[in-house]
Amino acid sequence: MKGESPSSTDPGFGRRFTDHMAVAHFEGRSGWTETDIVAFAALSLSPAAMGLHYGQAVFEGLKAFRQPDGSVALFRAHDHAARLDRSARQLVMPELATGTFVEACRRLVCTDIEMVPSTPGHSLYLRPMLLATEAALGVRPAAEYLFVVIASPVGAYVSTGAQPMTVWVSREHSRAAPDGIGSAKCAGNYAASLAGLQESATHGCGETLWLDSNEHRWLEELSSMNVVLVAAGQAGPTLVTPPAGGTILDGITRKSLLALGRSLGFAVAERPVALEEMCDGRSFVEAFACGTAAGVVPISAVRSASGECPIGNGEPGPVARRLQQTLLALQEGSAADPYGWRLSIPTVSADAPCRARK
Ligand SMILES: *Cc1c(COP(=O)(O)O)cnc(C)c1O
Repeated sequence: MKGESPSSTDPGFGRRFTDHMAVAHFEGRSGWTETDIVAFAALSLSPAAMGLHYGQAVFEGLKAFRQPDGSVALFRAHDHAARLDRSARQLVMPELATGTFVEACRRLVCTDIEMVPSTPGHSLYLRPMLLATEAALGVRPAAEYLFVVIASPVGAYVSTGAQPMTVWVSREHSRAAPDGIGSAKCAGNYAASLAGLQESATHGCGETLWLDSNEHRWLEELSSMNVVLVAAGQAGPTLVTPPAGGTILDGITRKSLLALGRSLGFAVAERPVALEEMCDGRSFVEAFACGTAAGVVPISAVRSASGECPIGNGEPGPVARRLQQTLLALQEGSAADPYGWRLSIPTVSADAPCRARK
């Protein structure tokens, strides 16, 4: 993206990357190296790199937002760091050295700070990734790993309010099974979601709403977003969402929206929800999906082999809209941050450009 500033309409999410990346290596005996900021470039890997064959690959997705004073803040970076370590432990990969994740993100954003969009609702998406690189074909946890962070500007379904979507429920495929790795943010779970995604597309849906693999009855989540339902009540709305953990990824957007919902006076219930309850026409007035990349995306209908049920009136619901605006205001710094979720990128001085902080 050299010399270009992100366009305010299509910043090229996921196809255009900033000029640099952060890199660190792990070697069994010596542990983690220091993190380097280097030019964005192809990686050099052995074709026998174990992560490519056996799937020891975990990742994160988090965002940096332009603040009203022109500075930049990362959103919940420490929570994303903790989750990468959790995912790594589940796949028997080494945790990062303390502070590495946040420092790598900070320095990368600091280095490429002019690529952080200023358009409201736009942001810089960071993709940290941990991959087994040891060249060996035996099946066991690898002894060498690569940690890399790349960044890509992302626009705006968020600011304009995402269009409501119809999601497909598959009874042919499952994303995750009990006692497996469904709660890890790992490449394998995405591989497991692709056949269902393809099935969804043949039924005109861009997203799959996954049910549990045992009964095909209980809501889990989407392939890269959690699901939240809204029940109306005399005392105000209740946000209802399946408990995270087990086969469901513990989404940071989900957690943030539940906290913000409580602060707005909504009730919150984390409990199992059956598909027939979601579709009974009276339990819920709204539903939405949520995740870092897309923010809050209303769900207007659920389609499956047995038919289609509408949720709400087809328009984005007021609770989804309010939560999305409240979250974005906090991320973009137009609202206070009582939770300590924003991490500001330090101002660069001429003699110490984006150095590691010791
Ligand atoms: C990343 C992800 C989410 C959303 O998590 P956030 O922390 O909110 O971005 C939800 N489900 C799956 C399977 C994911 O990989």
